Amino acid sequence: MSDTTQSSTQTVESSFAQFSLSEIINNNLDSLGYRSPTPIQAQAIPHVLAGKDVLAGAQTGTGKTAAFGVPVIQQLMDKSATPRCAHNAIRSLILTPTRELAQQVFDNLVPLAQETGIKIVVAYGGTSMGVQTKNLKGGADILVATPGRLLDHQHVRNITLAECEYLVLDEADRMLDMGFMPDLNRILRRLPKARQTLMFSATFEQRIKALAHRIMSTPVEVQVTPENTTADTVTQMVYPVDKSRKHELLAYLIGSKNWQQVLVFTKTKQGSDALAKELKLDGIKAASINGDKSQGARQKALDDFKSGQVRALIATDVAARGLDIQQLAQVVNFDLPYKAEDYIHRIGRTGRAGQTGLAVSLMSHDEQYLLEAIERLLDTRLPQEWLAGFEPKPLSEIESDKPIKGRSRSSDKRRMKAKMKIHANRGKKR
Ligand code: AMP
Repeated sequence: MSDTTQSSTQTVESSFAQFSLSEIINNNLDSLGYRSPTPIQAQAIPHVLAGKDVLAGAQTGTGKTAAFGVPVIQQLMDKSATPRCAHNAIRSLILTPTRELAQQVFDNLVPLAQETGIKIVVAYGGTSMGVQTKNLKGGADILVATPGRLLDHQHVRNITLAECEYLVLDEADRMLDMGFMPDLNRILRRLPKARQTLMFSATFEQRIKALAHRIMSTPVEVQVTPENTTADTVTQMVYPVDKSRKHELLAYLIGSKNWQQVLVFTKTKQGSDALAKELKLDGIKAASINGDKSQGARQKALDDFKSGQVRALIATDVAARGLDIQQLAQVVNFDLPYKAEDYIHRIGRTGRAGQTGLAVSLMSHDEQYLLEAIERLLDTRLPQEWLAGFEPKPLSEIESDKPIKGRSRSSDKRRMKAKMKIHANRGKKR
């Protein structure tokens, strides 16, 4: 790597004027309320404008999308006075690991490209090819896509990548984790060698650097946070609690602290559905978002959460990728993640763009080793607190007190209450 720079995660006291962007883009930034560049923007934009390959290490929520979006849009505009695509050519390609992130990036780029004449299209799986095919007619200046759907379009010749000048890999670490390498290799083979490549990644593992070396040409490395850290705007707290009382504690926290919008992570799809049901029984409006749900159901849950109709959104790690919810104040780890890096991704959902946030982890005895892995990765100890009334039982008691058929007494009580309510309602109907 030819250059390495570091700075804090806070906003920098400078203006976008330093980049000599076009007036239209400056106006768009102004309309979006982007007054000064975030650190990743301040560091990456000049290198991208200078035509260099860039490997950027930045956490989720640090303004990554504009860090690549602004200079790519600017360059596309510079190269053609009246930007228009010929045939089915794609001029720049942005790959994301999930559908939600693809949509999110698209939503962020469109207002940045307002009035520029730059055509942006989004394509991801789980939705029909038809509309995307229509949108791709005549090519696109920017295509935001997930790898599988991109290859589908390429296969039926809806697009050609032969003239693609820019490639952006967003959340590159996650792409590797999710087994996209074979698809990625197929895509890379279809792209011209002479192109500018930008890679953005929250975590900066060796594998990422190896990939970067393979597909990039002497990239500039910019990293705005030390490796594997969490934003310092996020307050973190761990509550040790018995496994069987986690949902009770969560309901208590939501109610007593009057959290109006909380994103909750579970490790399994089934767990996310079950927890949403439990919270609903407690009278808390909740919805789950996971890979088993249709795209429509996922989008509805997300929209309801964003609009405040749903108070608790329960998500798995994969489903949560790309969720950008403005001013999300609370994130809860209902289960600690198996992979310590996921902790960073999860809590990166709060404390975005310099705002404060709270990340709470509910830890049962058997998750102690997961917390230790997180602390090793972050090289710090996370504060722990026993919450009055929810103190965990000593280990010896837990061993001798395993619930019969895996059910807790409290959830039995609640189910009974719910049943009684249903019976009462039936009585009314009659
Ligand atoms: P991202 O990391 O691209 O997902 O961006 C996270 C959030 O920060 C998004 O909601 C952006 O709209 C917002 N954002 C990006 N750049 C800036 C900026 N320079 N000033 C204020 N907000 C920004």
